[in-house]
Amino acid sequence: MTDLRALSIHDLAFSYGKKTALSGVSFEVQLGQCCILLGPNGAGKSTLFALITGLYHARDGRIALVNYDIQKSPYKALAQLGVVFQQSTLDLDLTVKQNLRYHAALHGISRKQADKTIQQELERFEMFERLHEKIRHLNGGHRRRVEIARALLHKPSVLLLDEPTVGLDVPSRQAIVSYIHALTQEQGLAVLWATHLIDEVYPTDQLVVLHNGIIQITGTVDEVIAKVNADNLQGAFALLTQKEAR
Ligand code: ADP
Repeated sequence: MTDLRALSIHDLAFSYGKKTALSGVSFEVQLGQCCILLGPNGAGKSTLFALITGLYHARDGRIALVNYDIQKSPYKALAQLGVVFQQSTLDLDLTVKQNLRYHAALHGISRKQADKTIQQELERFEMFERLHEKIRHLNGGHRRRVEIARALLHKPSVLLLDEPTVGLDVPSRQAIVSYIHALTQEQGLAVLWATHLIDEVYPTDQLVVLHNGIIQITGTVDEVIAKVNADNLQGAFALLTQKEAR
């Protein structure tokens, strides 16, 4: 049987001094799966992303990207990863093309291959005609599209998105949510999407609900609702995150 595991997290723990931010965190995301990391502010989502991207090192536990352990094989592991951070990291005074070419060069992609992939990714997102515009002149939704295209240039297996719709208007949010879900299916990508917004969840998504640094529940939307005996996902999320988990 083919191993579809793209991201595996096992018994992860992390503390800021005496403050425990994550404890006993274990879950997997498979290729072709969109996994929503759902948690209120302070749940530990950003800390988990900092560990997956290698910014912090875990006190305990293991993270593997397509079977490459990020401590033992960091280059191979991180080559499998595309990331869209919460704060934009585009250079406002460079054009779309310059930003994307710069990122491609950092990944060792040839200019010819980069230009081909840049065109593919931007066309997919109806952004190719903006190629020569400076980022400064794009609206928030279009900047996000460029960031997602950039995260995919080196053809990663896993895409991490840290609250990518924060600050966007409703149509831009909906466009990004629907694009990412389509991409997951079409490209067979594994997506881990951190959010606290229930309306970004699709019925087909896998859920990991994090609260106070501990996973409260994992499963499909229907499984989560049934397990906590709630009427809908909003109710389930409230039940799982309002009570003190420890
Ligand atoms: P989220 O991204 O879900 O809002 P975080 O990962 O930012 O959660 O935070 C998890 C916990 O760790 C919170 O209790 C937060 O206050 C704490 N925390 C985050 N960063 C630091 C830090 N640099 N120093 C101390 N505590 C921190």
